[in-house]
Amino acid sequence: MALIVQKFGGTSVADSDKILAAARRAIQAHNRGDRVLMVVSARGHTTDELVALAKEITETPPAREMDMLLSTGEQVSVALMAMAIESLGVPAISFTGAQIGLVTDSFHTRARIRNISTERMLQALGEGKIVIVAGFQGVDENYNITTLGRGGSDTTAVALAAVLGADGCEIYTDVDGVYTTDPRVVPEARKIDRISYDEMLELASLGAGVMHSRSIEFAKKYGVPIHVRSSFSDAPGTWIVDEESARRAGAVVTGAALAKDEARITILGVPDRPGVVHGIFRTIGASHLVVDMIVQNVATSGKTEVSFTVAKGDLAETLRAAESAARECGASGVTHDADVAKVSVVGLGMRTGTGVATAMFEAIAKAGFNIQMITTSEIKISVLVRRSEAVAALRAVHEAFRLDRGTVEESPFVPRRSDTLMDLVPLVEASGDGQPPRTLGMEDLVIGGVELDESQARITLFHVPDRPGYAAKVFRAIADAGVFVDMIVQNVGAAGDSILSFTVPRESAERAVEAVRPTSSHEIAVEPAMAKLSVIGVGMRTHTGVATRMFAALAERGINVNLINTSEVRINVGTDVDRGREGLECLQRAFALTRDNARPL
Ligand code: ADP
Ligand code: ASP
Ligand code: MG
Repeated sequence: MALIVQKFGGTSVADSDKILAAARRAIQAHNRGDRVLMVVSARGHTTDELVALAKEITETPPAREMDMLLSTGEQVSVALMAMAIESLGVPAISFTGAQIGLVTDSFHTRARIRNISTERMLQALGEGKIVIVAGFQGVDENYNITTLGRGGSDTTAVALAAVLGADGCEIYTDVDGVYTTDPRVVPEARKIDRISYDEMLELASLGAGVMHSRSIEFAKKYGVPIHVRSSFSDAPGTWIVDEESARRAGAVVTGAALAKDEARITILGVPDRPGVVHGIFRTIGASHLVVDMIVQNVATSGKTEVSFTVAKGDLAETLRAAESAARECGASGVTHDADVAKVSVVGLGMRTGTGVATAMFEAIAKAGFNIQMITTSEIKISVLVRRSEAVAALRAVHEAFRLDRGTVEESPFVPRRSDTLMDLVPLVEASGDGQPPRTLGMEDLVIGGVELDESQARITLFHVPDRPGYAAKVFRAIADAGVFVDMIVQNVGAAGDSILSFTVPRESAERAVEAVRPTSSHEIAVEPAMAKLSVIGVGMRTHTGVATRMFAALAERGINVNLINTSEVRINVGTDVDRGREGLECLQRAFALTRDNARPL
């Protein structure tokens, strides 16, 4: 007898007809003999309306009371759903987060799940009932109601599937799957049949609102297959599964995403010495702000610029933290731009495929847009552009990778639960250096390993003009020379121009420089050998603490960081090649990894 979790989003329970339709779907599975647990969101725009109502009373509602308010939306839905199911003749019971013992930390409005007791749910399922749980909510140790962050019902659903050992988690929503990009923004987008956890994690955290990114962390860690599908049709949707099951021939890029409401913050004239970056992110990380696109320039005359992006809504709070960090480290100032958006492409094939960066930059150049910042990871490239140009840039990129011409799979896909990382890797609690181990919360950061790569060289171009087409020209020349590029970072420089750095295999460094020289009359610096240190885990970007801890450990040893890039599954930094081994050892110690358990995830 299978156990399945079915999650219904806001539009899928917007009115009584839709609630009854969702109820029938659950009953269908129940009648097949499955045990069914439903997770339900607030109806329609309820959560938005509650937020607006609070803002009518005060601009700064206390976070605890916000959670008290927002959790009511889901409570209405579960009660109505239980009534609907009972009215159709099947026994059902609804629970709030507190009633099933879904315990979180105390970070109101962005709480993380610590543990869930399964007893009450299993008992009700054992009695043949359909169990309906309110999404998005829990309680902290003191029974204060908490919520998991907007869109968090997905995370409730996958977390329940994980603790109950369910066979799968079905996400019923208003689209019939995960598309190559948001179909509301680019109508030519195509449905993806299968996508790996890592790709979905990146897409979700880079702006694809179809799934809450933390739900994919759960799915990956606990091996839960997810089926995203329409609540209004029986069409097969998209499977989010392990890498082996997701592998498809051909495409290098799987999808593209847009994060429209971003803001850039740049700290100018940062002294280039060990520990400074750490100081900056410690101050910012203390506020639990999620920071992305962290970019640091190669220093000129002992000073450098550090830029990063945050959600526009977090700008004011982040600026306060950045200004105090700048004062502390003796930087010359802080600038920001609240008018930017991030366009990204994601695909497993990028690990080995070449030319993705070139094609992306060329598409944006052809559309006539300037790229302000660039960051990459093994499976994604993100660029920062003006907000007003972002949708057109996304379209251009989507078309350039022919994402509008995908084929849809004919044969049905049969998923299986994948191995869980929670068994495979001795997971390390990652919150306190050298402190006695603490029981791991379900959403605590897990670190799988630390790596050192000494095989690369770094090339830097200074005074890159701030106009469309430059990055495209540089990477076209490098691609034509047949050189594989790994990390790319471009940051805004102090003089309103940019600095562009990238890494290539050591043996290709000269070839790359020769290829680039004719494209620019600008100063080029080559670091013929460098060390790349990586910390590997799951959900690295949302756990701001991990970057802070990494920078702290390196700073303590006086190891200077001169290049940073981050993704959901790893944080990479560049350092001097002769400090690489030492850096590796100090990171292993900082993350309490011994040689035996320092296995990559
Ligand atoms: P629910 O209320 O069911 O959780 P959401 O609004 O959170 O639904 O998510 C579904 C929406 O996500 C879609 O209507 C679509 O506009 C948006 N979306 C963004 N990116 C994508 C994508 N890559 N594929 C599918 N939908 C996407
Ligand atoms: N109702 C919550 C929200 O609108 C949670 C969710 O729908 O996932 O953000
Ligand atoms: Mg949602």
